[in-house]
Amino acid sequence: PELRFAGFDHLVIKGKADGPVYLWIHDGEIEIRDASGIWGENIFDTQELVKDELGDPEVKVLCIGVAGEKLVRFANVMTGMKNAAGRTGMGAVMGSKNLKAIAVRGTMGLEIRFPEESLEYNRQLIEHIGSTKFAQIMQKWGTMFIYGVTNTTGLVRVRNFQLNQQIGGNIECEHIEKYSLGTEGCYGCIIHCRHKYQIKNGPYAGTYAEGPEYTSQGAFGMEVDCNNFETILVGNHLVNMYGVDTLEIGSMIAWAMELYEKGILTDEDT
Ligand code: SF4
Repeated sequence: PELRFAGFDHLVIKGKADGPVYLWIHDGEIEIRDASGIWGENIFDTQELVKDELGDPEVKVLCIGVAGEKLVRFANVMTGMKNAAGRTGMGAVMGSKNLKAIAVRGTMGLEIRFPEESLEYNRQLIEHIGSTKFAQIMQKWGTMFIYGVTNTTGLVRVRNFQLNQQIGGNIECEHIEKYSLGTEGCYGCIIHCRHKYQIKNGPYAGTYAEGPEYTSQGAFGMEVDCNNFETILVGNHLVNMYGVDTLEIGSMIAWAMELYEKGILTDEDT
């Protein structure tokens, strides 16, 4: 809602900048600023660098990573650690315009026509949503809880669609407990469905990220038939850092693996 707080309902961005730029939108004003200093930066660093430059940690930043800059067809537009507008290549559209990021800060507030009634309606919604079994499970495990159902019933794709079930699959949501530092939520949501996690030991010690969603569990677990939960955590971190669609990446890796197994892709090709 930051854009609305800044006085805008939506943006239409036409044309292409001569060089890297970002938009700075604040309380009714829009500035085009030089982004050459952040071009090439990953999703996490881009957001921090923009906030530093603008001198306000409350600024919300939507941006592309290196994938969007390089016009990868399944590049995402990202906000925060993991929130992605994915699957349609919108990151490549931003990259094609040399638009690295859109930073927004709004303090204009919202006029509410019936404030008391709205509050009461909100209270009822929270009560209703919070009492559902679905919300309670989501609060604990996030979308990863879906894996148990879909894998058991053969509704997943494994080894580039060669199988519809991960035989002996052991990437259940409960594994996240070992790495979780607590949960995080989107603006105004009571569910807080994503885990903040950190890998504490091994070659990826120190890796911090949020999630993973069921889709990353699918990409780096089911699609490639991998039973190592840490691989999912690292894969999730990498796709979010580069700003690229997690399911597309998982499918491509699984496809390449099958090609290699069948001898169509060889060591000479890689
Ligand atoms: S925190 Fe709430 S709004 Fe955000 S993804 Fe989870 S359930 Fe959806």
